[in-house]
Amino acid sequence: MDYEPSDVTVVDRKDEITSRIPRPAEAPAPASPPQQSSETPASGLEQMHATRHIRLEDLHAYYGSNHAVKGVNLSFEPGKVTAIIGPSGCGKSTMVRCVNRMHEEIPGARSQGRVLLDDVDLHGPGVDVVAVRRFVGMVFQKANPFPTMSIFDNVAAGLRFTGTPRDEITDRVNAALEAAGLWDEVEGRLSEPGMSLSGGQQQRLCIARALAVEPAVLLMDEPCSALDPVATLKIEELIGQLKQRVTIAVVTHNMQQAGRVADTTAFMLSGELVEVGPTEKMFTNPDDERTEQYVTGKFG
Ligand code: ADP
Repeated sequence: MDYEPSDVTVVDRKDEITSRIPRPAEAPAPASPPQQSSETPASGLEQMHATRHIRLEDLHAYYGSNHAVKGVNLSFEPGKVTAIIGPSGCGKSTMVRCVNRMHEEIPGARSQGRVLLDDVDLHGPGVDVVAVRRFVGMVFQKANPFPTMSIFDNVAAGLRFTGTPRDEITDRVNAALEAAGLWDEVEGRLSEPGMSLSGGQQQRLCIARALAVEPAVLLMDEPCSALDPVATLKIEELIGQLKQRVTIAVVTHNMQQAGRVADTTAFMLSGELVEVGPTEKMFTNPDDERTEQYVTGKFG
């Protein structure tokens, strides 16, 4: 089947995650993570752990000799949406794929630098890449429901993969569909194929699938570029709601979208991070002339 690696991007409960992503011995003691109740609530998402901080430090990425990301330093702040903008081919997707280590799946591709999730370097030696992908969910430009699965099973897939007790799965699937703004549209037809949904619904199904396993970070790579304006608006509204639960980075070529959804905007050009700042400032009074030229449509 035509699965993306992230089709199994699922997230352990946070106590498992912190134990499964090894911490370097020399790392300073981590800030205490929020404690999870010993009882799993009916709606698991209501208990979603606090968002986490991602920090890229001198991140480089290559495809063979093509140096696609050149020494990027950038943070994705908890509780905020960070938009990554820039002309096609400037390295936006490559950069976010480094965060959950999908970049390294491409033959000939490699990266260097640090990607810190709070105090843990996700690229560090001994870090479990499966745990990374469980903790850092991803949504793609083209919705990619598991083609043979029902709506319910698409969302349940990650929960089953991580061994969630059977009696919790239904509540958690329903909660994820609710959180993804899809529940009202699919209630009563959960056994129908995921592929029977519209494009916008399929994208929200993929968001529900990612949320079901309670990621700390959600990477969205052009999540609306295949959608019509109404479906786009729904996803944008959803992003605004979800940012309190999960740290979000959105790659977009659509500057209006960045203006609508993002608290922080980062502008990339030719693999470099030119400038990052509050979205309003980036669009009205950026520091760098290249940012100004890009956001005013002079190139790109
Ligand atoms: P953006 O997301 O800003 O459009 P990308 O990250 O997709 O940019 O691409 C950055 C550079 O990496 C481009 O030169 C592109 O051709 C190259 N690239 C992207 N994906 C691949 C790949 N799978 N194999 C080889 N080169 C790639």
